[in-house]
Amino acid sequence: MKVTLFSSKPYDEAFLKRLNPSFGHELVFIENRLNPQTAHFAYGSPAVCAFVNDVLDAATLEKLAHGGTRFIAMRCAGYNNVDLAAAQSLGLQVARVPAYSPFAVAEHAVALFLSLNRHVHKAYNRVRDGNFSIDGLIGHDVHGMTIGVIGTGSIGRIFARIMSGFGCEVLACDVVQDPECLSMGVRYVDLDELFARSHAISLHCPLTPQTRHLIEEKTLTQMRDGIFIVNTSRGGLIDTEAAIAAIKNGKLGGLALDVYEEESELFFEDRSIGIIQDDVFMRLTTFPNVLVTGHQAFFTHEAMENIANTTLGNLADFEAGRICPNLVKLKTQAPP
Ligand code: NAD
Repeated sequence: MKVTLFSSKPYDEAFLKRLNPSFGHELVFIENRLNPQTAHFAYGSPAVCAFVNDVLDAATLEKLAHGGTRFIAMRCAGYNNVDLAAAQSLGLQVARVPAYSPFAVAEHAVALFLSLNRHVHKAYNRVRDGNFSIDGLIGHDVHGMTIGVIGTGSIGRIFARIMSGFGCEVLACDVVQDPECLSMGVRYVDLDELFARSHAISLHCPLTPQTRHLIEEKTLTQMRDGIFIVNTSRGGLIDTEAAIAAIKNGKLGGLALDVYEEESELFFEDRSIGIIQDDVFMRLTTFPNVLVTGHQAFFTHEAMENIANTTLGNLADFEAGRICPNLVKLKTQAPP
C-alpha cells in the first residue's frame, strides 16, 4: 500500500525503512509539512502519515479525502492538530501511537527540571569559556520538594515515580486517579491546592479546550514565588506572554519548555542562519532561567523504534481491513 509520509526527517526515514521490510508498504517520504498547500503530494495514497506540527484541518483533510486517502497514521501520541469532526464527516480513520516510550518524555522532563534547578545550562557555557565562578549557580535540594504533576497518564505517572524516588512529595491533578500513583503515595488534590503548594509543576495533560492556557496570569498568581514550571506536553498549555511577565516580576523562578505555543513556525528545522521573527520566543530565550529544547523529549532510540513499529502496524491493520487498536475515537470508527 502506498503511504505518503509528511514532515519526514532523515531519522524518521532511517527507522521506518529499517523496519518496513516485514510490512512491505510503499513508503513515500516528503520533507514538507502537511497542510492545504501540500496535501496534493499524497494524491493516490490510501494512507498518509503525519507528525505533531502538520496541519490536519478541514481544508487539508478534504484534499486528502479527494485524493483517495482513507487512513491517517499519526506517528505521535497527540492528535490536537487533527480536526476530528472533519475527519469523521469525510470518513477518514485516524490512528496514532498512544505510547511509544513514556520513559523518554518523563525522563526528559526530569532532565530539564534538574538542569534548570542547578543551572547546568549556564555552567556548561561558563566552563567552556574558562569561567569557573559558581556565583549565581546556587540551586535547591530536590529532596523534600513538593512537586505538582498535572496529568498522571502514561508519562505523568512515570514522572511522578521518578520524583518520588528523589524523596519529593508528589501532588497530582487529573480527571481520573491512577492506581499506581495512589499506591506510590501520590496525593490527588484540586488545582488550587496544587498551584499553592508546589515548588515545581510539570505538565503532562493533553491540550484540549479545557487545558488551553492552564498556566496564565491568574493561575500564576496562585503559585509560590519562584515556582518552577516544566512543560513537555503541548505549548498551548501555557500562555507564553503571561509566563514572560511572571519571569520578569520574579513569580516564575524557572521555566523549562520542550514545547511552545507557536512552535510549528520554528521547531524541527535549522533556523540558525535566518532571522527568527517570533519576538515572544526570542524574548523567552534571553532569560537565564528559561531552558528550551525543540520538542525532543520523545527522541530516544527506543521511542523511535516503537513509533516506527506501531505506525507500520497501524497501516498494516488498515490495509488488511482489521480493526486497528490505536484508532483515535471518532463517533464513526470502532473504539480503540
Ligand atoms: P495520556 O493520555 O496517557 O495521559 C494524559 C493524562 O492527562 C490522562 O490521565 C488524562 O486523564 C489527563 N487529563 C486530561 N485532561 C485533564 C485535565 N483537564 N486536567 C488534568 N489532567 C487531565 O497521555 P501521555 O502519553 O501521558 O502524554 C501526555 C502528553 O504529552 C500528550 O498529550 C502529548 O501532548 C505530550 N507528549 C509530548 C511529547 C514530546 O516529545 N514533548 C511526546 C509524547 C507526548
